[in-house]
Amino acid sequence: MAKKTDNPEKIYGKIKRKYTQKSVKERIEALFLDNIGKIITREQIIKVATDPKTKKQPENWHQRLSELRTDNGYTILSWRNRGWLRVEEYLMPSSEKRINAGKRVKPDKNTWKAVLQRANDACEWTEGNKICGLKQGTIDPIGGGKVKLTPDHKNPHSINPDTDPKDINQWQALCGRHQVMKKNYWDTNTGKMNVYAIIQSSTVTEKEIVFKFLLDYFGYVQDEQGNIHKTKRGKK
Ligand SMILES: [Zn+2]
Repeated sequence: MAKKTDNPEKIYGKIKRKYTQKSVKERIEALFLDNIGKIITREQIIKVATDPKTKKQPENWHQRLSELRTDNGYTILSWRNRGWLRVEEYLMPSSEKRINAGKRVKPDKNTWKAVLQRANDACEWTEGNKICGLKQGTIDPIGGGKVKLTPDHKNPHSINPDTDPKDINQWQALCGRHQVMKKNYWDTNTGKMNVYAIIQSSTVTEKEIVFKFLLDYFGYVQDEQGNIHKTKRGKK
C-alpha cells in the first residue's frame, strides 16, 4: 500500500486541554481525536491516561489502546504499520471507525456455561505447557484488577467467519490480559501472526532460541565472549 503518507514530514500532536472523561479509554480516545493525522507519543498517552483526580497512572493503558482498535474500530498506526513511526509513536489518520468492529459472534449462554465448567472457572490461556489458570473474580497479580473471564474464539474471526455459537470446542475462557495478548498476537485484518508481539512476550529461553536461529539465518556466529561475527556463508 503505497500512500503519499509513506514518507511524510513528522508532525507531533499536543495535549491541548484537560481530559476529564471517566475512563482511561475515553481519555485516550479524546486525545487522538484532538490530534488527527499527528503523532502521539507514549508519554502523552500516559499523561492523559493518568486519573485526573487520584493521579494514579494506569499500567494497562496499552490494553485500552488496543481496544480502541479492536472494539471501537479506529485505525491507530504504529511503527509496525508505518516504518517512519518510531517505537512508542502512534497516529490516528482519521476519525473513521470500521463499522463491524466489536460485533463478534459469541457463544450462546449454555455453551459459555459449559466452557466455564470445562475451564474450572479459570483462564485457559496456554503458553508452553503452562496454563494461566487465573480464577474468575480473583486479582490478577500481573495486570492488576479483578479477573473477568470472557469467551474467545480459538480461531481468529477473519479466518473462520462461520463460528459456531454452540460448539464448546471452538471456544475458550480467557482473562482480560490474555484476551488482549491474543489480539496482539493476531492481526485481525490479515489473519497473520504478529511474530514480534509473540517473541516480545515469550520467555528468555524462547527468546534465546529465536536469537540463535536469527544469528544463524543471517550468517552470524557468537563467540565465547559474546561478540558477534559475520560468517562467509551469510544468507540474505
Ligand atoms: Zn489468563
